[in-house]
This record gives sequence, C-alpha cells and structure tokens, in this order.
Amino acid sequence: MDVDLTNPIFHDEAAARTWLEHARWGSDAACAHCGSLNVVRLEGEAHRAGLLSCRDCRQQFSVTVRSVMERSHIPLAKWVLAFHLMAASKKGVSAHQLHRMLKITYKSAWFMAHRIREAMAEPSAPPIGGAGKIVEADETYWGKQEIPQPRSRGRVPKPVKKGNSGPADKRPIVALVERGGPIRVIHMPRVTGKNVREALVRHADRESRLHTDESRLYPAVGTEFAAHETVKHSAGEYARGDVHTNSVEGFFGILKRGMKGTYQHCGEQHLQRYLDEFAFRYSNRSKLGIEDTERAVIAMRGAEGKRLTYRRIGDA
Ligand SMILES: [Zn+2]
Repeated sequence: MDVDLTNPIFHDEAAARTWLEHARWGSDAACAHCGSLNVVRLEGEAHRAGLLSCRDCRQQFSVTVRSVMERSHIPLAKWVLAFHLMAASKKGVSAHQLHRMLKITYKSAWFMAHRIREAMAEPSAPPIGGAGKIVEADETYWGKQEIPQPRSRGRVPKPVKKGNSGPADKRPIVALVERGGPIRVIHMPRVTGKNVREALVRHADRESRLHTDESRLYPAVGTEFAAHETVKHSAGEYARGDVHTNSVEGFFGILKRGMKGTYQHCGEQHLQRYLDEFAFRYSNRSKLGIEDTERAVIAMRGAEGKRLTYRRIGDA
C-alpha cells in the first residue's frame, strides 16, 4: 500500500476539500443539481466552507452533494484517506482497520467502507471485449450460502441446497475478464446455464473470442460468440496456444486471498459489494497504467450520483 500518511489532505479539512473538488471537477466546478458550469463560490463567514451556488437553477451545493459522502458527519480528510487506502490496498481494508486508523467508531467505519464500495461499483459499465479480443470466463465459490434459493415458482424456498454445479452450500461467483483489460464479477444465487448466459451476453461483446474450461455451463452460450475455445483442465491441459483462463484464475486468487485475510465474515447479502471492490482495483490495476493516487480519484469520481440511502445500508 503506497499511501503517504503525512500528506495534508489526510489531516487538514481545507486541503481535503480542495483535493476532493479537484478530483471531482478538475478546474471547473459543475452544479451538483443541474450540471451547469455557471456557478459561484459563496465566500465569507456567513457561509459554510465549500458552499457554491448555481446561477442557473439557483440551488446551493458543495463537493459532497450527490456523492456517497453526502450528509456524512465524518470529516472530509478521513473520507479522502479511506478512499486512498481502499484504492491502494491489494487485499482490501477491513472496517476494523479503518476504525483504528481513522479514529472513528466501528459502525461508522463499516458504513463508510460500504459507501466507498458503492462508489467503486460500475453497474452500467459497457460490455468488455470486442472484435479480435479475448474474454475469459470462469466460476468459483466462496463462503457459505445463507440466502435460501427458491426451487421453482410458487413453492416455498427450501434451505440452501447444492446448485446445478459446483460445491454444495457455497456462494457462486462468475467472472469475465477481457485479457489485458477490465473485469466484471457477479455473485449468482445459482450457477445455471441460463444465469451464466445472461451474465455473459450482458457484460461481454459477442464479437469476442470466449475462453473457458470444459464446464458444461459454457458451450450453449459459447455459440453466440465469435468463437468459443476451451482448455481441458481435467486432462491436465492449462493452455493451448493463446487459449487459456489464466487471467480470470489469477483474479480469483487475489479475490480469495483478500476475502480470507480481510473480509472472512462477509454476509452473503453484501458479497456483491466486496466483489465490486476487488473488480474495481483489478479493472484499474497498475499493469494498465493506473497508479494508486489516480485509482483513488477514479473511485471518488465514481461516487458522483451514488449516495446510498439509509434503507440500503445505513447512515455514517
Ligand atoms: Zn444548477
């Protein structure tokens, strides 16, 4: 983790606010309500620090409005530090670590971490891959299933049972990686051909070459892609020419080490948020030329328009 804790943006509210404003807006502040650039800063003792006013819609705003930081009582300098820590750490940062480092309550740290994960999520990101590109897909399992899955429509959900494939009572995770590019990671209640197809056609461009192992989840959807090439892990085959699933398996390795070391008690209802966090760091990894500070800026920008409501995870 490469975070210089002596940086004033982590201690000084004014410096933190300036950093956030620059990260969010660059040199021209935009109205958080209507997007207008016709805004004026409200200076002087009559106004709260960081308040701006829009000449078009006549509303006031600050850098935290319509962001995951909105209405938080946690100082901005602590938010900036938390964004940096979570963007830089390979394995994630637990609420306990944030609680100790930021000197805030455990409860506040927990909510703050989930808000930052929300900022890192990319629910409407464009499909990965494309003509001439390779998309690797694979599934893995992590942690015990807690949410009972309905067996069929209209029937009472039975306790958690073995899915179509994979270990019983584990939470299935499907990941798609564009080789040398970004990743999409999805927690699925059950891994079925139908669910896998939905994820693949939604998140990957069908002009891509699809690379998987010999699992029977992929041949049907594979016909919808430019090509579907497989490696037979059961026969000890891990690569044939450029056909392999090493990128997606590498990601699963990072994910599992992080989950085991940092988030071992993650509840199933929150699993997707943790997956979003690991996916964010992978899609913005240093191998793709994105370093720690820039990754924090990208996360902060993603915070725009994504304020979590109390009903979704609670207040911090
Ligand atoms: Zn406005």
